[in-house]
Amino acid sequence: MPGHIFGRSTRAKLPFAVGGEGCYLIDAQGRRYLDGSGGAAVSCLGHSDEKVCAALHAQLDRLAFAHTGFFTTEAAEALADRLVEEAPEGIERVYLVSGGSEAVEAALKLARQYFLEIGQPARHRVIARRQSYHGNTLGALAAGGNEWRRAQFSPLLIETSHISPCYEYRGREEGESVEAYGRRVAGELEAEINRLGPETVMAFIAEPVVGATAGAVPAVPGYLKRIREICDRHGVLLILDEVMCGMGRTGHLYACLEDGVSPDMITIAKGLGAGYQPIGALLCSGAIFDAIDRGSGFFQHGHTYMGHSMAAAAANAVLSRILDDGLLPRVRAQGQKLDAALRSRLGQHPHVGDIRGRGLFRGVELVENRETKAPFDPARRLHARIKTAAMEVGLICYPMGGTIDGRRGDHVLLAPPFIISDDEIGELVDKLAIAIDRALV
Ligand code: PMP
Repeated sequence: MPGHIFGRSTRAKLPFAVGGEGCYLIDAQGRRYLDGSGGAAVSCLGHSDEKVCAALHAQLDRLAFAHTGFFTTEAAEALADRLVEEAPEGIERVYLVSGGSEAVEAALKLARQYFLEIGQPARHRVIARRQSYHGNTLGALAAGGNEWRRAQFSPLLIETSHISPCYEYRGREEGESVEAYGRRVAGELEAEINRLGPETVMAFIAEPVVGATAGAVPAVPGYLKRIREICDRHGVLLILDEVMCGMGRTGHLYACLEDGVSPDMITIAKGLGAGYQPIGALLCSGAIFDAIDRGSGFFQHGHTYMGHSMAAAAANAVLSRILDDGLLPRVRAQGQKLDAALRSRLGQHPHVGDIRGRGLFRGVELVENRETKAPFDPARRLHARIKTAAMEVGLICYPMGGTIDGRRGDHVLLAPPFIISDDEIGELVDKLAIAIDRALV
C-alpha cells in the first residue's frame, strides 16, 4: 500500500515502529533496536516509563486542554516552578512551547522586544557560531550557522553573523594551552561585537555542549565564563540553547550549571518531554521579564498549544524521574562507563580521531587519517552508511556528515536513555564498532 506521509527523505523505506520497551524500540517484524541515541537525544527515559505513562493517563482523565488565553493549569504551573527551582541564578520565568525551534524562535523575539521596550531599538543583530544548528523555523534557521541549510532560504529574517565554534580537537593549535585556546575563541565574540557596533547587537546564542552538528563537543573550561563577561561588557544577551544537551543529558539538569554560568535565556525541549509529549520551553531572567512587565506587559508572541496540559503533565513526571529518582548521578556514572567502553573498543581504531562528551552525551569523530585529522571525502557519505549499518545490526545512533568546507569529520552522536544498564552499554559499543567497520568497507 503506498503511503501518503512524506518525511525529509521522499524515498526512504523505513521500518514501522510498533512498540518500545526500556532502551529498545521494536518494529513490525519484531526486530529490536537498542536506542543508542534516544532518536535525537529525546528518549531520556527509554520507551515505556511507567511513571510518565501513569501521569499521562491521570492527566487525560482530568483535563486534556485549556487555552492559555483563558486559563492556567496546575500541571503548567508546577512545571514552571520546578524548572525555575533548579535553574541557574537569575532565571525566573518560563514560557512553554511545543518544541526546540519554537523555544529558540521565542527567545529571539523576546530579545528583540526587550530591547525595544528598554529604548535600545538599534539592537537587532544576532551572533552565533559557524556550523551551529538552532532549529528550522525561519528565525531559528537565521541564527544557525550551517551554510548549506541557510543558503536556499536566504535572505533570512534576522541579521546574524558567525564566529568560530569552541572545538578543541580541531581548533586548538599546537603548543596552545586549553585555557589560552578558550580565551582566543571567546575573544572572537568581542571582536565581532566591536566590528558590528555593540549598540546594534542584541544576542549571542550557542549550545554549551554542541549536539547534532558536532557530536557532543563541550566548550573548554572557562570559555562560557569568558563569553558571559564579554556579553555583559557590551550589554548583549546570552542565550544558551540546551534543546539537546539540557534536561540531565550531561549529568546536570542544565548543562551550563557545570560551566558555572548564568545566561539571560535558556531554551530546552527534547528531553523535557522525553518523547512522551512534544514540549519545549524558553526560560528567561527576571530582569527581561520585569522590563516587559513594566512596559507593554505583553509578550508579542504565542502558539495555540503552548502550556498544553498533557505535555506539562508528561514533563512534570519526566522531571520527577530525573530529579527524585536519582537519575543525574546515574547519568554521570553510566556516562563514565560509556566513555571508557568507547575508548577501550574504538580508541585505537585507525579511523577514530576523537571521542568526547559529557554524561550520556558522547560523540565519536571519524577521520581518514588520524595523524593529519583529514576527514573522509563527503561524497563517500560515511555517516549515512553508518546509520544504515547500525540499523541492520539493531542499533539506533545519530551519525552526521562532515561539513561542506571539509573542516570536520563525520561523527556519530550517542545519547542513550538514562536507564541504560552496563550490559546495554556493552551492546551499544559492540554494535557501533561493527557498524563503523561495515560502513568503512
Ligand atoms: N536547537 C538545538 C540545539 C537542536 O539540537 C534542535 C533539534 N535538533 C533544535 C534547536 C530544534 O528543535 P526541534 O527539532 O524540536 O524544533
